[in-house]
Amino acid sequence: MKYVGAHVSAAGGVQNAPLNAQAIGAKAFALFTKNQRQWRAKPLTTEAIDAFRSNLEAVKIDTRYVLPHDSYLINLGHPEPEGLEKSRHAFLEEVQRCEQLGLSLLNFHPGATLRKISETESLRLVADSINWTLEQTHGVTAVIENTAGQGSTLGYRFEHLAEIIDQVEDKSRVGVCLDTCHTFVAGYDLRTAEACSNTFSQFESIVGFNYLRGMHLNDSKPDLGARVDRHHSLGQGKLGWEVFRYIMRDKRFNDIPMVLETIDETIWAEEIAALYAF
Ligand SMILES: [Zn+2]
Ligand SMILES: [Zn+2]
Repeated sequence: MKYVGAHVSAAGGVQNAPLNAQAIGAKAFALFTKNQRQWRAKPLTTEAIDAFRSNLEAVKIDTRYVLPHDSYLINLGHPEPEGLEKSRHAFLEEVQRCEQLGLSLLNFHPGATLRKISETESLRLVADSINWTLEQTHGVTAVIENTAGQGSTLGYRFEHLAEIIDQVEDKSRVGVCLDTCHTFVAGYDLRTAEACSNTFSQFESIVGFNYLRGMHLNDSKPDLGARVDRHHSLGQGKLGWEVFRYIMRDKRFNDIPMVLETIDETIWAEEIAALYAF
């Protein structure tokens, strides 16, 4: 089975996200459990937690198909002790919020070197941060997203994802999320069925589909290898429809949340329907 949805709004409280997902015909969704541009967050109230859980049940979306995304401020590979400490505590809080909501996945971008340390050193810090967080929590899997490789960010090579996973002690609680736009602008072609099978077989041999916990389905404004993160609506960017047809027909993408982060939310329902039509 395929579980497709979008990164929906949680404005007014996390409990609204499942309802927003249902409104667009989604069988999966992503959300921010707090304001993604601020460090601090008010703790979730018991009322919000209960309402979230009962709304999720009402819209018949299993917690396995909910892929929360952490704050953009967090850098688990931060080169400086203070920044690293702050990021680790914020990440721990994000995982704890998932625990409270009964969610089993947390999607995050690995981090950035800020050009102060090597990628290898920064990737080791990311893995240490994950280990530190997993030791203090239960039931939530850390889902590393591949990135566009903009600036000094890590995660634009499949090897980066593998290098982090290698150093994570509890392999049962680490996984990856592939973003089609990021994959493409990072230099992996996805424009034809042949390109898709080549790129995904590289992914299989370097990381492995057994670690795939989610997908972000986005078309791309920039071209192959541009290393710039700009999403587009499906079929309207440099990728075109083929990659989405390919993914929808390939069993390796079954039973994981697949989430749109495309730029025009007024057509999410149409995009979801178009994906299911494949
Ligand atoms: Zn993404
Ligand atoms: Zn992006």
